[in-house]
Order: sequence, then structure tokens, then C-alpha cells
Amino acid sequence: YKEELKKLKDLPAETKDGKRRVELAANIGTPKDVKGALEHGAEGIGLYRTEFLYMDRETLPDEEEQFQAYKQVAEAMNPRPVIIRTLDIGGDKKLPFLEMPEELNPFLGWRAIRMCLDNPELFKVQLRAILRASHYGNIKIMYPMISSLSELRRANTILEEAKDELRREGIPFDENLEVGIMVEIPSAAITADILAKEVDFFSIGTNDLIQYTLAVDRMNEKIANLYEPFHPAVLRLIKNVIDASHRAGKWTGMCGEMAGDPLAAPILLGMGLDEFSMSATSISQVKKVIRSLTFEQAKQIADKALEMESPAEIKEMLNKVLEEIK
Ligand code: PEP
Ligand code: MG
Repeated sequence: YKEELKKLKDLPAETKDGKRRVELAANIGTPKDVKGALEHGAEGIGLYRTEFLYMDRETLPDEEEQFQAYKQVAEAMNPRPVIIRTLDIGGDKKLPFLEMPEELNPFLGWRAIRMCLDNPELFKVQLRAILRASHYGNIKIMYPMISSLSELRRANTILEEAKDELRREGIPFDENLEVGIMVEIPSAAITADILAKEVDFFSIGTNDLIQYTLAVDRMNEKIANLYEPFHPAVLRLIKNVIDASHRAGKWTGMCGEMAGDPLAAPILLGMGLDEFSMSATSISQVKKVIRSLTFEQAKQIADKALEMESPAEIKEMLNKVLEEIK
């Protein structure tokens, strides 16, 4: 079975009938992870979590240090795409050199884009480093925890300032660099049609989207049984995001854990998800499922799931599907 998965490495992630091809990408935390991503056949980096560059140290990484890290990943993956997510600190992740007040509800608090918009100088250093690295590969920028259009616009204003600075300094960057957002807050998923007009792509962050939709702390063991990716509310939000992006001529990926779950693959494929980004070790399992179904079958499975009333019913159907294609 292991051998079979290995053989899949260089095959495309396309349906059995060849009617639909998707991109399977890897999530990484540091440049060191690129090797494993390529070894498992990742066609891109769908999520580069940059906070590791900032953690476990005494001072902020400067522009040059960040630039070197991002450039290394861009070059190693080139021409494959690399989606760099801007700093997503706060919630469960703290920085020693940034004063972060104790909060009653850290996951609902001062984190990610909220903190960056309040610290435009810190944010701009990262944006400049990413822009500079974009000259060396196929980089895309992604903002985490966007809850409204105004946050997206404010982030883009700072990005434009960073671009203007680089132009004045004669430093090259990719003028066509795509900018997207993570959809991981229900308000963003519900208003995806509004946001779609002003982004190049979406990436659904199911880890947080599930937490916020179901009001289930993703770190709390006691309620882990309530953390349910196959809840009809979650599936409807995912569908809404994909549809809204396609109506606007944009694409949608997913970089939460759900993207690497073989059980979820038939539904996500059938809903039209364009890119799946996951831990590199999950790529071949998901690819196997995608290659075992026709696009029509996947669409029917997705439609059926969207009509079902409970996660148990949905998972029972999906387990049968996986059993049949084993
Ligand atoms: C997510 O929320 O799904 C996600 C990919 O981001 P993180 O797990 O880093 O919060
Ligand atoms: Mg998240």
C-alpha cells in the first residue's frame, strides 16, 4: 500500500475521467520544510506560516532576515506557487518582545491581521520582505483572520505603501503578485461575494472556521467531540465561499486540516475546490481519492452531503465511498 502511494507522487491530482484537475499543495512553517513538500509531490506551498520566524527569540526578525527566508522558499519551489501568510500571532501564539495583554478570550482577541493593522510599521517590514522575495519566484500574499472588507482594504493600503517605497528605491518585485485572504471567520465566509471582488483568491482556514462557526475552542479537549468538520453549517459555508469566488472569476483553496482528510476529499472536490493544501505526508492519500472518482461522482456526493442533516449521516456516506474505491 505504501508503494502504491509512492507511485502517485508524480501523477496529477485529476479525476478518473480527466474532467477536473486540482492542485495539491503543502503547508510549511520554515524553509527547511520545503524538501519534504517536494518529496511528497507538492505542486506548491498553499500556506507558509511565517510566525515561526518570529517565535522563540528575543527580538523581531528584520527585513533582511525575513527576505532571506522567503526568497529561499520561493527559489526552491520556483516556478511552483508559494502562498506566504502574513504574521498570525496572538490567540495561542505569543511573542516575547511584543507587549500582548492578557485576554479573557484570546481567540476572539488581538491577533493576526488585527495586531498587524495596529502596528503598521511592523507589518510593513514583513510586506517589504515578501515583496522583495517575490522577484525570485512565484509568491502570493495572504492575510489571516480577515473579518471584513475594511480590514482587507487597510491591509492593501499598507501593501501599496510598501510597493511605492520599493519602486522609489529601485528594488525589484513582482508587480503582478496575487493577494488573497484566509476565510476562517464566519463573517468572511458569509460575505464571500463582497470580498471576492477585491481579492485574487481565497484560502479556507477550516481549523479556525470550524472553531468560530460552532463556538468550539479548538484547543479545549473537553469539547473536542463537538469540533466537527462535517457539520452541515461548516459545509454550507465552504460551499458558499467556493461558489462566490467562482462567480467572481477567482479561485479558492483550503489550508486547514480538513484539506488533508481523505474522508473530506470527495465533497471538497465535488464542490469545486481548486487547491488543497495540507501536511505533505497527506498528499498521496488525498490524491488517491481524487484519482478514484469521476468529477460527476464527486459532484453528486457533494450535493447529497449538502442535503443531509447530520455529521453522522454525512460521514457514513463518505466512509462507504472510501470503502468502495479502496
Ligand atoms: C486555519 O485556521 O485553518 C489555518 C490554516 O490557520 P492556523 O491553523 O495557523 O490558525
Ligand atoms: Mg487560522
